Amino acid sequence: MLKIKDLQASVEGKQILNGLNLEVKPGEVHAIMGPNGAGKSTLANVLSGNDKYDIIGGSVEFDGKSLIDLSPEDRSREGLFLSFQYPVEIPGVSMVNFLKTAVNEHRKYKNLPPLKAGDFLKMMREKKDLVHIDSTLTNRSVNEGFSGGEKKKNEIFQMAMLQPKLSILDETDSGLDIDALRVVANGVNALKTKDNATIVVTHYQRLLDYIVPDYVHILYKGRIVKTAGKELALELEEKGYDWIKEEMGE
Ligand code: ADP
Ligand code: MG
Ligand code: MG
Repeated sequence: MLKIKDLQASVEGKQILNGLNLEVKPGEVHAIMGPNGAGKSTLANVLSGNDKYDIIGGSVEFDGKSLIDLSPEDRSREGLFLSFQYPVEIPGVSMVNFLKTAVNEHRKYKNLPPLKAGDFLKMMREKKDLVHIDSTLTNRSVNEGFSGGEKKKNEIFQMAMLQPKLSILDETDSGLDIDALRVVANGVNALKTKDNATIVVTHYQRLLDYIVPDYVHILYKGRIVKTAGKELALELEEKGYDWIKEEMGE
């Protein structure tokens, strides 16, 4: 589904990704961990098409297409979803209108007619129940005045509505209390199918108590330097990142 080869990218003229390789298949959950400043958010931004980030080498294939050639909108329409580390507030735009526009844009891309109002609201209700989000959030403007935890829950709700093939969740656990963490993790688990995949970017092992990854990767200085099963997350929790530096000969 996703094939990243030797990806090199820079921001503001500074190279951050230094030859990153990663492959994700349908049905898989990957965790990307790594110290602050390693390039985790840069990777998420590059994949979503943020134009502040320049790709200077390598390739990214998503479902057989070169992702780099697609606009951010088309990446979304092709089934890519990014949950931001810091979701933006959009005052004056209601959740209903925001999601109706997004869902119908996706449908248009697949040559499907827009959903009827009633069907859309029914879908909203079903997805709200699925990820346990209540109407006090969905009746408001997008993220306006939401707490950190509410913003993250709302991202999972958007993910439920858009039914992406590949979701990239950037630091979904930062700023979450344990209840919000469970809501987010349960949402991710409830949305998991054999056809979609998730990349969870996280600094801490905590989230991975609830979302069990098939693979854990360590991103360090702009490259994946180690890949293993979920036990690697526990090892990191115990030992921190210093041993990685030692293994790298630093
Ligand atoms: P992580 O998410 O792993 O903590 P980031 O990808 O956010 O790391 O950052 C990697 C490096 O890129 C850091 O040194 C950071 O300061 C730099 N960086 C990221 N985004 C920008 C930006 N918009 N402008 C300048 N530097 C940036
Ligand atoms: Mg960070
Ligand atoms: Mg980050």
